[in-house]
Amino acid sequence: MTQLIEDTGHSIFLFNTFGGLRAPSLRRSRPAAHARYCSTHASQRRSGLFGSLLRRWYNYELFARRRTLRKQRFARRQLRRRQKPKTMRIEDFNERLTQAILVGDGAMGSLLYESVGPQRCVDELNVTHGEAVFHVHQTYIEAGAQIIETNTFSANRHKLGQFGMADRVAELNHRAVKIAREAREAAKHEVLIAGSIGPLGILQHVRELPHQDIVTIFKEQAGALEERGVDLFLLETFSDIEELLAAVDGIRSFSRLPIVAQLTYSDEGTTFGGTRPQDAWAKLKDKNIQAIGANCTIGPQLLLPILRDLAASAKLPLSAMPNAGFPKRVGDRIVYPKSSPEYFALFAQEAAEIGTRIIGGCCGTTPEHIHAIAEAVKKLRSAKPRGTGIAGGSGAGGTVEVFEPAQRFRRIAAREPESKLWKKIQAEEFVTSVEIDPPKGVTIDRILEQVGRVMASPHVDSIDINSGTLARVGMDALVLAGALEAHGFETVPHVTTRDANIIGLQAMLLGAWAVGGVRNVLAITGDPPSLGDHPETSGVYEVDSIGLVKVLSRLNQGTDWAGKSLGGATNFTIGVAVNPVAEDIDEELRRFEAKIEAGAHFAMTQPIFDPEHWQAFLKRLGGKSPVPIIVGLWPLTSYKQALRLNNEVPGIVIPKATLHEMENAGDAARERGFVLARKMLDWARTARSESIAGAYLIAPFKRYEEILELFR
Ligand SMILES: [Zn+2]
Repeated sequence: MTQLIEDTGHSIFLFNTFGGLRAPSLRRSRPAAHARYCSTHASQRRSGLFGSLLRRWYNYELFARRRTLRKQRFARRQLRRRQKPKTMRIEDFNERLTQAILVGDGAMGSLLYESVGPQRCVDELNVTHGEAVFHVHQTYIEAGAQIIETNTFSANRHKLGQFGMADRVAELNHRAVKIAREAREAAKHEVLIAGSIGPLGILQHVRELPHQDIVTIFKEQAGALEERGVDLFLLETFSDIEELLAAVDGIRSFSRLPIVAQLTYSDEGTTFGGTRPQDAWAKLKDKNIQAIGANCTIGPQLLLPILRDLAASAKLPLSAMPNAGFPKRVGDRIVYPKSSPEYFALFAQEAAEIGTRIIGGCCGTTPEHIHAIAEAVKKLRSAKPRGTGIAGGSGAGGTVEVFEPAQRFRRIAAREPESKLWKKIQAEEFVTSVEIDPPKGVTIDRILEQVGRVMASPHVDSIDINSGTLARVGMDALVLAGALEAHGFETVPHVTTRDANIIGLQAMLLGAWAVGGVRNVLAITGDPPSLGDHPETSGVYEVDSIGLVKVLSRLNQGTDWAGKSLGGATNFTIGVAVNPVAEDIDEELRRFEAKIEAGAHFAMTQPIFDPEHWQAFLKRLGGKSPVPIIVGLWPLTSYKQALRLNNEVPGIVIPKATLHEMENAGDAARERGFVLARKMLDWARTARSESIAGAYLIAPFKRYEEILELFR
């Protein structure tokens, strides 16, 4: 029935247009010709057998649609409930401030200026240049910021109205939170998102707007910020205490999120309205704010006495975000002094001693300053917590651990980021891999046992894992690789571009890297579904193996396909396939070069049965392969098998002499096949000058242990 609703677009139109539920109109859900017919023969709809059937159908459909709508409404509600971000409780926030000094971020505007030039309204960039805003957040997170501020300082109705954007409060604030949340996604440590709220910028006229109107303006902005999941509110750069109080009232009229309230003080130690720090505390103390502080206007040195004044009166954790210093106007630009990061580190230390629990920067500060603060804070493990009035914080001193939640979630078995296989190849040691097929069923016990036995051999370094060979369904190679890695076996899973789009490929690879500990990947295009047992399905093939190598290279550079930073990089050793006996050698050469250009580190050949096959290809490459080659070796077990491989399997060529030998061997064909493969292995071991770095071995009939006979 859902299908029906979706198919008859008109019905949806009816529901959407009129809001309520209307009987589905036959006229509207049928083509125009029918509509005319039905309306002129309305009587037929109400009488006779046809009419009664129609009525029944009509009633049924009405009922069914109601039911569907009910279900959809329920599902939407469930989804909303699930999507609703977990809100930061005041107790949790207090707890964090008791445990640690939190590092804030630095200036947003100046960094945005650098990337997108002068703007009439910086808050509008959330929509027009979201990437730039994202990048600023990310840079601060990487520098060590634990609180980032949304780019919403002026995103209130009053200020936006000056640009004719008064009706875009929700849009710009929503976007800003979304961008901040995306930036947080890739963070290695916990990051809180502070909804930044600045003053209305109407200091001299502030009394012309009734207090209640100001409250409403702040309430609107804060509401939009909270809707999209900020963790706290940061009221900053207020110079009028009354306006700050209005903002707090606006937020507290609906919100239970933590509030950090900051005024901006002049070098004389008061706000422009003449408010002293202790006056501010007196007015704010009953307002249920969680931290009180100062930001902007003055640099670190001048801010310290204000913090001391606050500390003397306020019974709350302090926050401080000084400017880099006094600004200077140069041309049409405001330039801040180049106060050194070390200077900020010193400030952080002193501020912490006074009892400041949130330390960041304001105008003119950069990620370097924030990094310096973060480093300084790390060293302050014995700083005294302040805030006698808040949960848990007795102010009685004692050691405070810097809050580093990431440490609590250390990986169970940390793995080296480097591929052992690659290290060995680079050390010019011959590497040997054994190829396996993933199990087709639901159990991995057998394969684990087999691999265990194979890997017990000192001759084998790794296991390479086929992926959906011949487009048959088997366990996913990357997932199986993760399972084997967990047992300490190095793997080279094959990844094809047949079964997943670019999003899926990246998702799988990131999981394999981070969770599975997979370090090597063989990028292949993969056999088309028409070959396998699911001929009715279609291959995805958004990219081919060359594209997959590019995807892997990007992950290795720390960004996804869209260029978004991953907050760290993978370090995959990327392998590609090469077929020295391909029918169209020119095309094979072209593709091989493209794969290397895209970032391949090594290549694996199709199984070859004659050194000359490789040597001929090598000649075409100019005598040397641009990347190390791992050659495929496959001991034949019977003449019949040799014939079949030679004739039926694309990409495999068995020389006539070998076929002959296999035929003549009769009952001893299996032994013969192993003797020949051993010869090939001996050649490969000594063929470093021919760019051969190792071999991968294919066992007969998935009896993987039997491949070890090659080493006897
Ligand atoms: Zn500032």
